[in-house]
Amino acid sequence: MNKKVRVRFAPSPTGYLHLGSFRTALFNYLFAHHHGGKFILRIEDTDQSRKVEGAVENLINILNEMGLSYDEGPDAGGEFGPYFQSQRLELYRKYCDELLAGGHAYYAFESAEELEEMRRVQQMQGKQTMYDRRARNLTDNEVKERLASGIPYVIRLKVPIDSEIRFTDLIRGNVKIDTNLVDDQVLLKGDGFPTYHLANVIDDHLMNISHIIRGEEWLTSVPKHIILYNAFGWEIPQMAHVPLILNPDKTKLSKRQGDVATEDYLKKGYLREALLNFMALLGWNPGEGEEKEIFSKEELINLFSIERVNSAGAVFNIDKLNWMNGEYIKKYDINELTELILPYLNSGGIDTSDLAKTKRVVFAIKNYLNRLDEAYEQAKVYYSSVSLSDAQNDIICNEISKQVFAALTSKVDALLEITIDNFKPLLSEVQKETGVKGKNLFMPVRLALTGEEHGPELGLIAYVLGKEEVLKRLKI
Ligand code: GLU
Repeated sequence: MNKKVRVRFAPSPTGYLHLGSFRTALFNYLFAHHHGGKFILRIEDTDQSRKVEGAVENLINILNEMGLSYDEGPDAGGEFGPYFQSQRLELYRKYCDELLAGGHAYYAFESAEELEEMRRVQQMQGKQTMYDRRARNLTDNEVKERLASGIPYVIRLKVPIDSEIRFTDLIRGNVKIDTNLVDDQVLLKGDGFPTYHLANVIDDHLMNISHIIRGEEWLTSVPKHIILYNAFGWEIPQMAHVPLILNPDKTKLSKRQGDVATEDYLKKGYLREALLNFMALLGWNPGEGEEKEIFSKEELINLFSIERVNSAGAVFNIDKLNWMNGEYIKKYDINELTELILPYLNSGGIDTSDLAKTKRVVFAIKNYLNRLDEAYEQAKVYYSSVSLSDAQNDIICNEISKQVFAALTSKVDALLEITIDNFKPLLSEVQKETGVKGKNLFMPVRLALTGEEHGPELGLIAYVLGKEEVLKRLKI
């Protein structure tokens, strides 16, 4: 790579981070780090009608939470700022004037009604709906007069006629487009704000962006951008358009078919490491024959390459995410995992003030979780108090049970503490000693310890309750 790698994530803040945008940010991040380059956050907030209160803060929070820190951006600073497009308006106007002066752009004065009528007629005639370029024919004087009399205007791109745009996308290969199919895009709107196309090209150039990695939905904008780069005489960054994320039925991943907000996945109890790992493998793979699926962020950085991003859409497989999350949960540091699980237990009404016990609970349940929000269901048995029906009471009070409890009590007493695996062998010893086995052995113990007839392994239950509590509960 000869040019210094500088990539950007350029969201228009909508109030939440769509999974597709998150993946775009992630690929940019991995690419930048792989090449020792810079990852930049630029907020594309020029569409005033789409402004959402708190959207930028939310976006920054979620990027931070997911560990995608940027080298330059709104709150990170950098020598190419400001990183909010809404703070760069003068720049866009200046460059737009340059385009006008060079004959690459022109004023157009049609009202919304006129444009609507144009579209209606084109539709009726079965033509592609696009601006019919009528304002190109205005003379300089006509333009001046209209401007002087204050008629609202936009500035449009003068797309070259009968020409061809070619470019090579790093994921899709060679692309070629007939310019007669490219609309004379509005560059500067009636409200004086630039459109996405103008601002995006200017900023990518001024911010020295080397590679543009973004969603496939922007592929159709590339010809307009290339025309702009050429008009300015600027070098065109390399481009990579990442495929869409699809629902299992191959439709575009959308709100209708489940959650698309990255933050919702965190709330549901997906670990950020798991989500990051999973999203990195959505549309990218580390190489032929690579069976491994669990990768740390560092490994992903080492392995990442744009060439290995598929050009076909990537199906979002929630079962795989669940599996992967479960794998991460199993191996997570127990103290950190406990911290993460506490809110889920508390909101279910569990008193977690005995932190040592809660840690044991987490240790006992972690292998059974795919998501952290399943913790409450798994954990509650360890906190329930013992209250038995008459029939159950009869079971634990009969002579056989008493014999079992007596034998078990002396064995538990002899232990320094109950560990994750030293309780079950005691039950085998009790069986040998007393001759009681099967249901007659296990049911009274289970009832005495939990008050329930079914539940997790007795060894786990005893470990979580701890020696003292087990002895207390065996004292019938
Ligand atoms: N503002 C555009 C978006 O919301 C950025 C597209 C691009 O990366 O060029 O996705």
